[in-house]
This record gives sequence, C-alpha cells and structure tokens, in this order.
Amino acid sequence: LPKGSDSPGCTVIDATCGGGHDTLFLATSLWPDHSDADGHRLLAFDVQEKAIELTRNRLAGANFSHLIDRGHIRLISDSHENISEYVDTNLADIIVFNLGYLPGGNKSLTTMPESTIKAVQSALHILSKDGLICITIYSGHPAGAQEKETLLQFAEGLDSSKYHASYIRMINQYGNPPEILLITRKN
Ligand code: SAH
Repeated sequence: LPKGSDSPGCTVIDATCGGGHDTLFLATSLWPDHSDADGHRLLAFDVQEKAIELTRNRLAGANFSHLIDRGHIRLISDSHENISEYVDTNLADIIVFNLGYLPGGNKSLTTMPESTIKAVQSALHILSKDGLICITIYSGHPAGAQEKETLLQFAEGLDSSKYHASYIRMINQYGNPPEILLITRKN
C-alpha cells in the first residue's frame, strides 16, 4: 500500500463499505497476519445500518473482530461527506469509494452526485502527500450517469500543480462497465 503521511502506520478509508468486501480486502492488506503491531487504522463509512452490520459480520468471519474491539478498525454510520471530521488533515493514505447502491439491497439508497462531490472534497482535505483516492463509478443507473459527469468535471478542474487526476475505462466490455477515477496528491 502506498504511504504518504509521516504518522506511524497507514490510515486507510473505505468511504462506502456496503457489503464489506472492499473493507475486508483492505483489512487483509493492512494486517495480513492479523497482528495490530504496525499502528495502521482503517475506517469504513456507510449511511445504511444494514451495510455496517454486513461489514462487521464479514470482518468477524475473517477473524478481524479484535481489531474492531481495539479501535484499529472503525465502522462509522455517517455520510462520507463528513469524512474529514474523523481523520486529521494530511493523514489519509488511501481513500476508496465504490459508488452506486448496495448489491442485493434497496436500489434507491444510492450514492448521489452532490453528496459524492462533497465527500471527495472532504477526502481531499485529509489526503496525505502521495496519498491516493480511488473512486469506482457505475454509470449504468440514472443517478450514476449524472454522478459520473459531475465527478469528471470536478476532477478536470483540480489544481494541476497539486493533484494528478486519471480516468480509467475498459474498452472491450458491453453495457456500462465500472469506470475508475484516481486522484493522487503531488505535494
Ligand atoms: N464496497 C461495497 C459496495 C458499496 S455499494 C462492497 O464491497 O460491498 C455503495 C454503498 O454506498 C451503499 O452501501 C450505500 O448505502 C452507501 N452510501 C450511499 N450514500 C452514502 C453516503 N452519503 N455516505 C456513505 N455511504 C453511502
């Protein structure tokens, strides 16, 4: 995992924990041997209580409950718009967003363009130098198409002396495959 901040350990954030698949991947990457000696922190956000429970259960099933109990992993029932209230400026090494709706859940509870932009602004506020924001975008549903346009416009306008913004899309898939927006902080 890339590490930009000076603090001991990495600070990693899952801004949309949903079913907890990405949170578990991040936990396994941070603590491959399940020991908390390195001082890493993992924060996972979702506005749906169901998502927080699914994530808690998935982590428990992979033997990560002790890291939740000791506060190294925090599951936070709050909007990702408020991310910067939970982490100090310059401290976040990696922030991932997996947008859209919870698979198998209520499709109307999707991320929305306006709150997503506020969340990315909040994420930029806490991002470390050399830190990375990775946003997976699904444009195949109505709110998603608007969300993609809003995000790309926002990212195109980012200060070129401070950030690199890259846009990755698959070119051999049908329909509306996921697309990825990467933002890294240069200085
Ligand atoms: N990464 C997840 C899938 C994410 S689906 C997995 O691995 O399963 C998108 C999630 O974003 C949903 O669970 C939805 O509840 C959540 N979400 C929607 N708006 C949000 C907001 N404002 N803040 C935080 N999470 C939000």
